[in-house]
Amino acid sequence: MKKNAAKKAFIIGHPISHSLSPAMHGYWLEELGIDGSYEAINCPPEYLHKTVKKLAETGYVGGNVTIPHKEKVMMICDEIDENARKIGAVNTLVFEDKKIYGYNTDIIGFMENIKPASDKNIPHKNALILGAGGAARSIILGLKNSGAKVTIVNRTLEKAEKLAKEFGAEFISWDKQKELYPQIDLLVNTTSIGMKGENNYKFDFSTLNKNAVVTDIVYTPLKTEFLKSAENAGCRIIDGMGMLIHQGVPGFEKWFDATPEPSQKLYDFLAAKLK
Ligand code: NAP
Repeated sequence: MKKNAAKKAFIIGHPISHSLSPAMHGYWLEELGIDGSYEAINCPPEYLHKTVKKLAETGYVGGNVTIPHKEKVMMICDEIDENARKIGAVNTLVFEDKKIYGYNTDIIGFMENIKPASDKNIPHKNALILGAGGAARSIILGLKNSGAKVTIVNRTLEKAEKLAKEFGAEFISWDKQKELYPQIDLLVNTTSIGMKGENNYKFDFSTLNKNAVVTDIVYTPLKTEFLKSAENAGCRIIDGMGMLIHQGVPGFEKWFDATPEPSQKLYDFLAAKLK
């Protein structure tokens, strides 16, 4: 690569037009006055290997990986960090010294997003996680790494059981979740319930611990029915946009050698794009 040439990064997925990442990284590049770019690449699964190799060979510094490539891209990486290996998915690539490095920054994104509400007391927290899909893995690992007691509840019980065994967590069946509501400190929705306002489920949070922090990683809409129900029950709520913003910071730092700010202004800029 030419010295001082503009650095190029990307997000690769299929489909990709819905992604807020190009707007977010573009915002940071402009704010920090960096001569760089971040582009969206729509890539069907059968072309993933060839496309990533080509990007690495043609001067890109790295990029993000999203659905449906987060697992498959691991086969192309030369080195994968420990968290990404445990989660079983890579969402951030760094091309350096002719090697492809894979990371998972969702774990940082989630933990940073709940930080203001976690009063530095995660090891004593009793967390209930709804869902046992791909996103749940990084959240469960983050909370377990921080010492929290984690219980997983999922529509398909076997998946909750499998995850609980893998990460040293507890699990319960979907219809028993209410029994835990009075004693939990942190409730996290990682299911796709409420995404784009669809597939909603009527949560009854009347017995939820009023001091519990409730967060939804779905951010379309920003205030899901799940969060509205928790807010009506008197709980503190945190939406999923912050997780998206915070997961972007480590990648940006690695590609562009600068630390971007996850500011309220950026949050408002991205929120406006959802409307
Ligand atoms: P996934 O692997 O497909 O898992 C989906 C999960 O939702 C499964 O546990 C599934 O249960 C559950 N589910 C789906 N419909 C349900 C319903 N009607 N009732 C009960 N449970 C239901 O998806 P994912 O990759 O984990 O992503 C989940 C959500 O997180 C998506 O909306 C995604 O956009 C969002 N997300 C946000 C961020 C962020 O930065 N904020 C990051 C990653 C993902 P079964 O096992 O029973 O099917």
